[in-house]
Amino acid sequence: MEQTLLVLKPDATMRRGVSAAIFEQILTALPDITIKGFTEMAVPQHIAEKHYAIHQGKFFYPWLLKFIQVGHVIATVLEGKHIVARLRDVLGATFVEKASPESLRGKYGLVGGVNVAHASDEPENAKKEVALWQHETNLDLAQDGFEPINAYIVRWRETPVLATYDIRQICQEYAQEYSNRELHQTQITDFLVEECPEWPHQDLQKLADAILGNMDLDRDKS
Ligand code: GDP
Repeated sequence: MEQTLLVLKPDATMRRGVSAAIFEQILTALPDITIKGFTEMAVPQHIAEKHYAIHQGKFFYPWLLKFIQVGHVIATVLEGKHIVARLRDVLGATFVEKASPESLRGKYGLVGGVNVAHASDEPENAKKEVALWQHETNLDLAQDGFEPINAYIVRWRETPVLATYDIRQICQEYAQEYSNRELHQTQITDFLVEECPEWPHQDLQKLADAILGNMDLDRDKS
């Protein structure tokens, strides 16, 4: 049966209510799947490099390595018929502005490539990614993934998800001139505090910096 790797990135995991909502909506949208393994972890540099090896040399590669290490990720493996394509569909397009409003990235993504989750893009890559995380991290595919995901949903589903539109607004303002970076970083951090009560302020500042950092990539591109 086909498998795919799902990794919730720091912009979702630090906003616990967002992660809970994502899991809940995946379970609803894909009721026939099996879930194998569940781990919340900091990604070591060598795993980040291997996971994103396909992007080595691209202009966004250094940002990718940094971003996935801003906070924890949650990794799990989904199994089911055509699961690679079906999960990508639920997740939505890479760029938040292009993702359909019903998709997870459309609902919870913040800006550009700050898009809440990674899901394998095609079955051959899925096999490689599942093997990497299975063999080189503590993701244990022998463990049932439903139980920890349901426990996560119960624990965090009431955490407010309030700031998505406010942060998008601040990003739009930043995109007008790409100036006053510190001010925008502070404003984003202040909104993150509402959604991430358990994270130290300096980690939220790092997340805000990474959000603006993703936008800076596209400024430099054009
Ligand atoms: P995905 O499979 O939909 O996640 O997209 P890719 O594998 O093509 O890219 C990996 C990640 O790099 C994306 O999810 C984005 O976070 C980031 N990214 C890729 N291309 C760009 C780009 O052109 N601009 C920016 N800002 N980020 C990008």
